[in-house]
Amino acid sequence: MNETIFTKIINREIPSQIVFESEEIIAINDINPQAPVHILIIPKKVIPTINDLKPEDAELIGKMFLVAKQIAIDKGVDKDGYRLVFNVNEGAGQTVFHIHLHLMGGRKFNWPAG
Ligand code: 5GP
Repeated sequence: MNETIFTKIINREIPSQIVFESEEIIAINDINPQAPVHILIIPKKVIPTINDLKPEDAELIGKMFLVAKQIAIDKGVDKDGYRLVFNVNEGAGQTVFHIHLHLMGGRKFNWPAG
């Protein structure tokens, strides 16, 4: 399997603005932000899409949401509201095939989304 851009970021082969890092997870500012706060929460384990999740990944996915919650608090968007999104496959807009949770905040979001 070819390395994705996120593996290169995790391995410091290309630069990024890191906002959180643990043994299992890294969070970075999105290079093309769709909101004033747009952060990607990325597991270091390579999982191409949510369709590839296994039962043993349950704790890791839970930790990603806990990281997102804490970053939302730290960035001050928790009270007004923020959006958490996993795009799954091309039809939903996934472009990097290494799962990542989008955290977007700092503006109003519409629902239903287009
Ligand atoms: P997807 O479309 O797969 O759900 O989201 C991929 C996200 O990765 C996009 O929002 C895109 O802007 C972001 N992205 C792509 N390449 C880079 C990069 O090199 N650095 C950073 N920080 N974000 C990237």
